Amino acid sequence: MTEIKDEFKDGFKDLGLHASILKALTEEGYESPTPIQAKSIPPMMAGRDVVGIAQTGTGKTAAFVLPLLNKMANNPSRPTSKCCKALILAPTRELAAQIVESVRSYGVNMRHSVTLIVGGAKMGPQIRAMERGVDILVATPGRLEDHMQQGYVNLSQTSAIVLDEADQMMDLGFMPAMRRIMTKMPKKRQTMLLSATMPKQIRSLANDFLHNPAEISVAPQSRPIERIDQKVYLVDKHGKRDLLKDLLSASNVERAIVFTRTKHGANKVTLNLGKAGLSAAAIHGNKSQRQREKTLAGFRAGEITILVATDIAARGIDVDGVSHVVNYELPNIPEAYVHRIGRTARAGKSGIALSLCDGSELKFLRDIERLTKCTIAREDLCDGEMVELPPPGQKANKPRKKVAVARIQLEGELQKLTKGRKRGGRGKPNGNASANGNASADGESAGNQRNGKPGGNRKPGGKSYGRGNGRPGGNSGKPGQGQKRRFGGKPGGKPNGNSGGNSGGRNRPRAA
Ligand code: AMP
Repeated sequence: MTEIKDEFKDGFKDLGLHASILKALTEEGYESPTPIQAKSIPPMMAGRDVVGIAQTGTGKTAAFVLPLLNKMANNPSRPTSKCCKALILAPTRELAAQIVESVRSYGVNMRHSVTLIVGGAKMGPQIRAMERGVDILVATPGRLEDHMQQGYVNLSQTSAIVLDEADQMMDLGFMPAMRRIMTKMPKKRQTMLLSATMPKQIRSLANDFLHNPAEISVAPQSRPIERIDQKVYLVDKHGKRDLLKDLLSASNVERAIVFTRTKHGANKVTLNLGKAGLSAAAIHGNKSQRQREKTLAGFRAGEITILVATDIAARGIDVDGVSHVVNYELPNIPEAYVHRIGRTARAGKSGIALSLCDGSELKFLRDIERLTKCTIAREDLCDGEMVELPPPGQKANKPRKKVAVARIQLEGELQKLTKGRKRGGRGKPNGNASANGNASADGESAGNQRNGKPGGNRKPGGKSYGRGNGRPGGNSGKPGQGQKRRFGGKPGGKPNGNSGGNSGGRNRPRAA
């Protein structure tokens, strides 16, 4: 929030915003526009289409809300029944609700109406709100389409649309809905597309639906915010639980968000943190809207210190003072890492992002580092013995038939050669000698072969943190007992085979 263009040294005044908005911004304590605001507000106010590449936490909500409000402040007119003058689409209910709050705050001195249409809430009040018509409608695509199909919402008079976090909407399967929605709008309209990343499909969406857009990028694409202190712990899967407890028990953890890949994982982590006496609550797509709102409010108010979330539920959540983001599991989509860690270091603050990476997530780690073009500092809790395993849900490469046949032939030759020589000599090659030691394992059973060495060798002294060589019964010595704490070794942990995110399995995508 510090990089401000010289021409906006007089703050928002230089942007030509309406006095009622300037007053609200002063009340909010905003002194000058953030870079995305400084760059995108002028073309938006001039009525141009805009493609904005900006990470969360850069002030992009105000970047598109202020021009919309400004237009309404300058041309106040009553909206037509069932119509909205401007539509803002967001991927999740939480983000949509937050945008509504921002519209209310920045427009506190104006007389405009704003309505929220999201899934998980009753249709009735939404229908009634639309009956009167609304200035700004903030919606998630799935529920909006329900309303449109039933004739409760009409976009024929909508002259501006914002697609916020467009890449996340695409990840959630909303691309067809976004396209359908835009075809229901007047051709002559203003379109603003904001995205943290610019994958191909978003680029083609922009090409198909935006007219000569001003392209604005405020941070190198997909690079995590520089102020975030990132670190990755290489740890056995079964050591993650203890490690997480230790990390979150540290005194500098003011407010933390822990990310898991699955809803089930989020519940499990929450339960374990609770057992350890930490104040944690989960937020994910299986929780009711009321539960989600309650949890979020508790987290905001500081009653809950740790929010355990899946990617989708946490998207766009803007809570001040998140000191730590912990990736309990690394995301399989590298862009998600950027979004996750963007929950900290908001509004000019710094933050800490810690990731727990087991052997099956090394590929994800490499993907993240490739995308972000930076190497994340590592702490190896496996003493250099971590073995790469197939990513969750993926099967290990089975040895190809050809290879297997060749091996059998070789064994036969060896046996022939050794026949008659001294007994007890070198017999057949070790059956485990296939590359990585996991050749015959599928993604879920490979954990028994962690060490991947022929014969499953383990380092004496039990310092590798593979399953089965850790503490007996799953309890390692506590730190301070003269023994390095092990983050591994609990046998029998249930493999997590569900890597498929939260949106699968439905015919039609919904906001999580
Ligand atoms: P966003 O990226 O829109 O989620 O905004 C991130 C945070 O920055 C929010 O808490 C905003 O209230 C805050 N913010 C946005 N614009 C400004 C500004 N110009 N000055 C100070 N804080 C801002």
